[in-house]
Order: sequence, then C-alpha cells, then structure tokens
Amino acid sequence: MKYYDKLIFELSRPGRKGYELPADKYGCDALKEIPADLLRKEAPELPEVSELDVVRHYTNLSSKNFGVDTGFYPLGSCTMKYNPKINEEIAAMPEFAGLHPLQPVESAQGALELYYNLQNALSNIAGLAEFTLNPYAGAHGELTGLMVMRQYHISRGDEKRRKVIVPDSAHGTNPASAMVAGLEVVEVKSKPNGSIDVEDLKPLLDDTVAGIMMTNPNTLGMFETEIMEIAKLVHEAGGLLYYDGANLNPMLGKVRPGDMGFDIMHINLHKTFSTPHGGGGPGSGPVGVAAHLVDLLPNPRVKKGEDGKFYIENGEKSLGNISSFLGNFGVMMKAYAYILSLGKENLKNVGPMATLNANYIKESLKDDYLLPIEGACKHEFVFDGLKDKSTGVTTLNVAKRLLDYGFHAPTIYFPLLFHESMMIEPTETESKETLDEFIEVMHKVAQEARENPDMVKNAPHTTLISHPDETTAAKKPILSYRQMKG
Ligand SMILES: *Cc1c(COP(=O)(O)O)cnc(C)c1O
Repeated sequence: MKYYDKLIFELSRPGRKGYELPADKYGCDALKEIPADLLRKEAPELPEVSELDVVRHYTNLSSKNFGVDTGFYPLGSCTMKYNPKINEEIAAMPEFAGLHPLQPVESAQGALELYYNLQNALSNIAGLAEFTLNPYAGAHGELTGLMVMRQYHISRGDEKRRKVIVPDSAHGTNPASAMVAGLEVVEVKSKPNGSIDVEDLKPLLDDTVAGIMMTNPNTLGMFETEIMEIAKLVHEAGGLLYYDGANLNPMLGKVRPGDMGFDIMHINLHKTFSTPHGGGGPGSGPVGVAAHLVDLLPNPRVKKGEDGKFYIENGEKSLGNISSFLGNFGVMMKAYAYILSLGKENLKNVGPMATLNANYIKESLKDDYLLPIEGACKHEFVFDGLKDKSTGVTTLNVAKRLLDYGFHAPTIYFPLLFHESMMIEPTETESKETLDEFIEVMHKVAQEARENPDMVKNAPHTTLISHPDETTAAKKPILSYRQMKG
C-alpha cells in the first residue's frame, strides 16, 4: 500500500500556512473598515496546511473516486455513457454561463433560442407536441408530469380520477412521485417475461383511473410489445399514459413515445443525452406532453414571436411554477451540444449500438449467470445472480469483487422482481475491448466463487474502505471531516 492510500485526514499543524495575502488589502488595515459588530470574535477553525499539503490531499482524493472517465460503469437504468468534453466547454462559455435569469430577455436571446431549439428537438424525438425543460431531474419531471395529469382531470371536472397504475417492475421514483402528486398508486403485475399483464390490467381500468406510468423498454430491458393495446384500453377508460423516458437511449430516433400513444413523458438529459450525473450533480428532466395538455405545462415558458424574437410567457391555465426560472440551463447546453454534434443520423445509431452491446454481454455471460428472461433485450438486462447458487456467493459479493478488478458494479437488487437482481447497462460508448475485459472478469469472478467462495465474500480487498455497514453508510453517511472527528 502506498503512503497516500491510507486514510489520513488530520493534516493540520498549528501555525502552518499556505498563503500570503497583501496586508494593505486584507490585513489589519482592511479589517478596520468592517463594522465591529460584523467582525468575528474568534478565528474560524480552518486547517492549517501548506499549499503542497493541499495540492497532494485533493489530487490523491480525486484519484480515489470512480467515474465514467476512470473506468467501465455498467450501472443499469443509469446510462453512464461517456460525457463528451466539448459539451463542458460549451456550457462554460462565459456568454452563457454569465447570464443572469433576471436580465432583460432582449439581452438573452441566444440562451432563449437554445432553450427553444432543445424543446423542439425533444418534441421531434419524442413525437409529442411540446416540452418544458424546467424540471431539475427525472423524479422532478415525473412529479411535474403527474401534476399535469392531475390538473387535466380536475380541469375537466373529473376530480375522482386519482388512481395511477404502476407496474411492479417500475423504478422506485414512479410510485413515490405519484404519492407526492397526491395520487393513489395501484400496482399491476408483470408476466413471467417481464411485460405488463394485460389481463391483470383490465379490471383496474375504471372511472377512477387517472393514468398509467410505464417504462418502455421496461426495467428488464424488454420492449412492451402490447403497448398499442394497453394505450387503447387506458384511453378508452378515460386515463392518460405517462412514459418514464429516463432511459430513452435505446429508442432514440427509432420509436417515439407519442406514436405509441403516450400523452406525457419525461426525459433524463443526464442519462440519454450524455450530460454528467451521479454524486448528486445537477440534472434535468424535461417533460413533454401531447397537444391537448400543452396549456397545462408549468411556467415560465419560452416562446418565439412572429418577429423571430424569443420571449418568456406565463400561461394562465398552467399548473404554476415547479422550478426557479427555466431550470438547469448548463445541463441543457450540454444536451443540446450532444444532439447537434451527433446529428439526426448518428442519433439513430445510439440505440442499436447500446442494444448490441447489452446483448453481447448478456449472451457471453449467461453460462455463468442466471438469465431469468431469455430473448433479445434492448439497452440493458437483468441477471438473477450467479447460476450456481450452491457457493452462497451473492450478487452483493460479486458487485464488490468487481471493484477489485477496477470495474464499477452494476445496479444490484433492482428491479425487485428477482432475489439476486444484477442489472447491466454497458451503453453505446464502450468499445468491444472494454466489453470483452468485463466479460472476462465476470467469468473469473464466477470461477472464484466456485473455487474460493470466502475470498469473494470478503471482497473488496483493494479499496480504501472495504466493508462499511450497508445501512448506516446509506442512512448516516459521514460526509465531512468534522463529522468524522465526532
Ligand atoms: C434514473 C431514473 C429515474 C429518476 O431520475 P432522477 O434524475 O434520478 O430523479 C426514473 N426512472 C427511471 C427508469 C430511471 O432510470
């Protein structure tokens, strides 16, 4: 182990200093100008370190992080595709980054044009009438979309429609968003092949149905082949169809939710459109709706006048504001740059390549890992743990062992349909060489599980922290140095 691989936090030494500030500007003379009652009584408790200490500390800390830029990150449902660096440069352009949301619209025409164009691009991609880019994340988009759904029924005097049907395989945010929107959640079962059971759905479709939330391809990466029938049934019952488009990746330019009969959807720009995410970074969850719902979209909205100028409008029938101003603009810039740099034709290749990569891994590993649902998947698929259950090696153990080999773990224990779910999504940005390395390592871990199960159960062996208490690590994480000191 290298010296800097140890967990050293206390670097402070009394009196050590890494800076020198001009005395006339920041020294005692400058302090005189600050009113006495605003001055600190005691010096702040700051680390006393040299510049070299600081540089080494942060440089070493940064290398302990795992990201798409450091290794393969097959986290299912999360679409950890490469984030092109040109997007970052564009989002950082001072002409955009320096804008203030309250400056006159005449002086921010370029930004509004970008918002407007991205809105239109998404409408074309989704086959829906209009988008708002205001929501801050996928779950926020869901909440916004469900508020539109609720508002639609209320505006028609149909208050009793409060029931939202959610498949048992759905992402956890779906039922949660429905609850927050003041709706009631009813679960619909999946068939053994992972798709919605239409027979199970029919009895749920009464005059209290507000709508159904679906993910297509679903959480198992399977396309819902009966979607047209489902759309017909839900619409006939007076409900709306909500499309969870967090993972629109495999559908890009191939199939449009609007054409499948969906009325409302959200898209995660921070998954499908390559903007960085993870670590709680900024996201963006635009919401699109069919023509009959456009007036209900949240305020403010960006419009284009007949004179070609862009302006901001607050619609009267709108459900109100769901964000401050127009959402996370920097994220929109990155997504727009991604769309333009790929162009219409290349955007159509994203889905097939992501699908090919997922199927390649699935077929290469199914001799060692249990594949509960056979057949071609889309951009992701789910294993139900190792095929050989006799070793006692779990999905959690395999996930941790992967860290020793320098791969990020797949999504584990989701979806809840299987006991040992392991959800793998390679994305289209990975090369065959990387996929082959991953496949080799997965086979190796399966072999280790047979030959030396205890070693796999005690993994990881190479990380700085190896076995945190799973629950406290999630519920009571120690995130600061002060917390650690107690
Ligand atoms: C990621 C995801 C969401 C939630 O998106 P956030 O931006 O994390 O709120 C919703 N549904 C599905 C299917 C997802 O994969």
